[in-house]
Amino acid sequence: MNEAPEKTNRLFVETYGCQMNEYDSGIVRRLFGDRGYSVVVDEKEADVILLNTCAVREKAHERVYGRLQSLNHLKRKNPGLVIGVLGCMAQNLGEDLHGMGLPVDLVLGPDNYRDLPELVEGIRTGNGGATLARLSSSETYEEIEPEVVSGCLAFVTIMRGCDNFCSFCVVPFTRGRERSRNPDSIVQEIQNLIQNRNVAEVTLLGQNVNSYKMDDGLDFAGLVRRILNETDIKRIRFTSPHPHDFPLHLLELMASEPRFCNHIHLPLQAGSSEVLNRMNRDYSKETFLNLVKQIRTLMPDVGLTTDIIVGFPGETEEQFQETLELVRACEFDMAYMFKYSEREHTLARKKYADDVSEDDKLDRLGRLISLQTTLGAEKNKREVGRSHKVLVEGTSKRSSSDWMGRTDSGKVVVFSAPEGASLTDLDAYRGTLVDVEIESCTQATLKGKADWSSASSRTGGKVRDNASEPAAV
Ligand code: SF4
Repeated sequence: MNEAPEKTNRLFVETYGCQMNEYDSGIVRRLFGDRGYSVVVDEKEADVILLNTCAVREKAHERVYGRLQSLNHLKRKNPGLVIGVLGCMAQNLGEDLHGMGLPVDLVLGPDNYRDLPELVEGIRTGNGGATLARLSSSETYEEIEPEVVSGCLAFVTIMRGCDNFCSFCVVPFTRGRERSRNPDSIVQEIQNLIQNRNVAEVTLLGQNVNSYKMDDGLDFAGLVRRILNETDIKRIRFTSPHPHDFPLHLLELMASEPRFCNHIHLPLQAGSSEVLNRMNRDYSKETFLNLVKQIRTLMPDVGLTTDIIVGFPGETEEQFQETLELVRACEFDMAYMFKYSEREHTLARKKYADDVSEDDKLDRLGRLISLQTTLGAEKNKREVGRSHKVLVEGTSKRSSSDWMGRTDSGKVVVFSAPEGASLTDLDAYRGTLVDVEIESCTQATLKGKADWSSASSRTGGKVRDNASEPAAV
């Protein structure tokens, strides 16, 4: 008599979109790992395939449809294979994803991952497909430590959701309302990452990270101060903030505390106050520029990066010119630049006609990219001859005899490894800070010479307890 094949538990997860999704995939892997699943890197070996999707850009949707079609043959070969769609696209499309002729057994929004292993088990034992797209007002997955670690760097989510309802953005509909994670669990997670995984730098994550707020009044600056005081983490970064949540005491903490990196990703979105108003961004071009000036006064060496959308409904050539002007005035180090694409469920889709032609959108995007590329390259040239503390992360993409890391301000630096150093030696240096003198640059990268006698394993020191109290901007 033939024996039934032994049941295997192998999970394959593919992630699209932002770092929040990377982190959520880590949560999913942890939930399945706790139930005896192993993670595989080849989907052909998997019993469960999960695509963690993004709904922010149209292209991300198309890629997922294409990917699901390409999985059809695996499903035909192995009908017991479970294929699930997670994340923002799942939340956005819900049940509809089951009716598209795609091999989808399970559709699950970002607030429902705790139910995921059980739902998968149900499908594997013959209960049929499922959809769960309930938004939660409280889920922060706070006691689940996903270990989203890359070398000496890690991400830690501190809040979820967004209350801002920018008119072009689908996030408030797919990720729900803002809720902040308990600070004790954040500090504990960072301590564990340092002790167990040799993590030297954490990036605090949230859709609206600097609006972090607990009921007892602890705000984002207060949370960072706690992390600095209670852990030996060498560097803290954060993404993505909103320009309306930069009180003076937060900027002063950044300026005074070397372990709190001088890098701010400050999404501009558009340079015209009228367009910003239609985008439901609650600042004008003048207030944005004043914020940039205030940041640069307190932190002259700050690294500033941004997001910009061109061709938003109603954007005229003159209004686009205002964006170019603001880009010149702000001198961003880098920008993520997009042409507007209408998204389902958004306020912009309901209120405004997508009336800027595709040709105009492409033309404006090209001119913006060209300007930013020139300005970014000029900024990089000004770094030549300067010295920076760089956190050693790994080998450079081009050669293992060169290593790479980032400055405090977030710029990528490639530098010479210590003479005769091997990849094993790299492990001893990873996560250490070293002085690097910048000798040359390309558009995206600085190149320099490391002073290995300066390499230190710890910056040490605790943040001042008497850092300034909150003040109005
Ligand atoms: S702040 Fe605006 S762009 Fe950012 S997630 Fe919230 S709604 Fe979207």
